[in-house]
Amino acid sequence: MPEVKVSGLHKKFGDVTVLNDINFTIREGEFFTLLGPSGCGKSTTLNCIAGLETPSSGAITVDGVPFVDTHKKLYVPTEERNLGMVFQSYALWPHMSVEANLVMPLAIRKASKEEKSVRIHEALETVGLSHLKDRYPHQLSGGQQQRVALARALVYSPSVLLLDEPLSNLDAKLREQSRAWLKRLQVELGITTVYVTHDQDEALSLSDRIAVMFDGQMAQIGTPAEIYEKPATAAVAAFVGSCN
Ligand code: ADP
Ligand code: MG
Repeated sequence: MPEVKVSGLHKKFGDVTVLNDINFTIREGEFFTLLGPSGCGKSTTLNCIAGLETPSSGAITVDGVPFVDTHKKLYVPTEERNLGMVFQSYALWPHMSVEANLVMPLAIRKASKEEKSVRIHEALETVGLSHLKDRYPHQLSGGQQQRVALARALVYSPSVLLLDEPLSNLDAKLREQSRAWLKRLQVELGITTVYVTHDQDEALSLSDRIAVMFDGQMAQIGTPAEIYEKPATAAVAAFVGSCN
């Protein structure tokens, strides 16, 4: 059973079409990247999966559960979709400690005190930050904040992880380190991941498969080798070929 299936996804903001018939299927455990220039519709696609945007038409199924189907007028609210999300800005709550930041999603899900403590410990261990649980976000580096955001996304064992340009606020060196670390984590956890980036180098090094988007449309879906060696269009070749 495919983990994530997006069919005939269209999105309009007013009269402007920003997604025009997006289709893809992500297998269980796959690291799948939406790659394309700024404004091509990557975040809108991810937000439709997350339930932060409503498609104008189309259907999305995760783990066999329909999240949205505009024909059937079906719509599952965000909080009922078992997804972990990390955004470009880490969006940690600044007035809360690392631990308190992680308690919140569990409290919303009415976890017991014991479950909270076990899950928070495990999530912080996963990202290697157990020793910083009493710190506040401003006392952490950008890379550490990003890992806390990831721990918070993982704390309730989501079926799918959605990552929207999580490395783009980091400097080049830290981005490189975080990339290696993200890949290792993905291999260890084997969690289905939908990753959004405009950085072709990042996409090529992290992904099992890449979906290249331009202007609200899907240009090509393939493995990094397929995309790099057999670009489907001149635009894909130009975009991926500018890889450094
Ligand atoms: P990407 O993540 O690839 O940079 P987005 O999905 O954020 O692209 O945006 C795709 C297009 O939709 C852009 O032209 C953007 O300006 C437009 N857009 C995104 N969100 C909104 C919104 N809430 N209202 C109007 N236009 C939007
Ligand atoms: Mg975006």
